[in-house]
Amino acid sequence: MNLNIPDYIKNISPYVPGKPIEALEREYGITDSIKLASNENPLGPSPLAMNAIQTALGNLHRYPDGAAFSLLDRLSRHLGVTASQIVIGNGSDDILGMLSIALLKSGDETIIPSSSFLMYEIVTQSAGAVPVKVPLKGLCLDLEGMLAAITDRTRMIFVCNPNNPTGSMITHDAMASFLNAVPENVVVVIDEAYIDFVRDDTCAFGLNFLDEERAVVTLRTFSKVYGLAGLRIGYGVMPSRLAELLNRIRMPFNANSLAQAAASAALDDTDFLEKTLGVIHEGLDYLYGELGRRGLKTFPTQSNFFLFDVGRDAKWFFEQMLHHGVIVRAMTSYGYPEYVRINAGLPEENRRFLTALDNVLGLPK
Ligand SMILES: *Cc1c(COP(=O)(O)O)cnc(C)c1O
Repeated sequence: MNLNIPDYIKNISPYVPGKPIEALEREYGITDSIKLASNENPLGPSPLAMNAIQTALGNLHRYPDGAAFSLLDRLSRHLGVTASQIVIGNGSDDILGMLSIALLKSGDETIIPSSSFLMYEIVTQSAGAVPVKVPLKGLCLDLEGMLAAITDRTRMIFVCNPNNPTGSMITHDAMASFLNAVPENVVVVIDEAYIDFVRDDTCAFGLNFLDEERAVVTLRTFSKVYGLAGLRIGYGVMPSRLAELLNRIRMPFNANSLAQAAASAALDDTDFLEKTLGVIHEGLDYLYGELGRRGLKTFPTQSNFFLFDVGRDAKWFFEQMLHHGVIVRAMTSYGYPEYVRINAGLPEENRRFLTALDNVLGLPK
């Protein structure tokens, strides 16, 4: 079979997701495991979203509203932008895919912070374009380095704020100077998957830079703070001219009817949002204190996850933790062979993680 697959497709390294709980339990024959590896909401889905899904179930024989009218209307009021400036995606990953189809062709370049979210590289390579990686400065995006990497071929720059996996953030002022220095034919994608968790009020918000004359796209998702990762729904906010182009190549029913109904309801669930932020922020403070007490180096975060230096091979640590039914994320493929990323969980999950860690590292109880 000779399919003539282009080399740029063959050379893509597949995205490696966090290990699912079901896979761990199947492979190790254990139960009651916990997962702190994919930055998911430990409280479960928004209850208002679950109710909305119940109500929407009776219409599953109908196609979804391909224009997502009601969700767009709800979002435009929530964000203070026009519906024509929003594109709905099957997760924000879907918007990344649309941007790559619409904007990139073979030989073009994108600028990608390294390390950051691995999908930026994958969508770039899918279009035959070249990812130009700019190393982080410490654990923060090197915005000056990214500006210096711009060439005639640069079409898109990815900015993850806060950054996954490092948890670092960009201030409003730093973002403003950066955007002013980017040529107007280059699209800046600001990925705000974790923006709701930010506690530092100097942080930049992509929507403050929304301008019909400026090619800035802000990505948001319902996967994290609203607890809807399994449903797959997210969106991008951008100049309407760009939104109109993305809507032409968007699969007509990319956001299913349950996801649309749940997302609208989740936006009304302010109680759930507050409860989530409370649990996450308390959990982070507790984990930082406990890891610090054990002499392990932690790195600051503005997100619901953080990195710590486990002081030995992170893959080994990951494997050992699996035996205790705890899934963490080794940062080896992100270029940090001794760093581990975990998200804050429920109080009992955080304690369970620490007990397992003490066992694995042979620390005194
Ligand atoms: C989790 C995450 C997303 C969200 O992806 P979805 O496709 O909306 O689930 C996007 N960007 C980053 C950096 C993430 O960590």
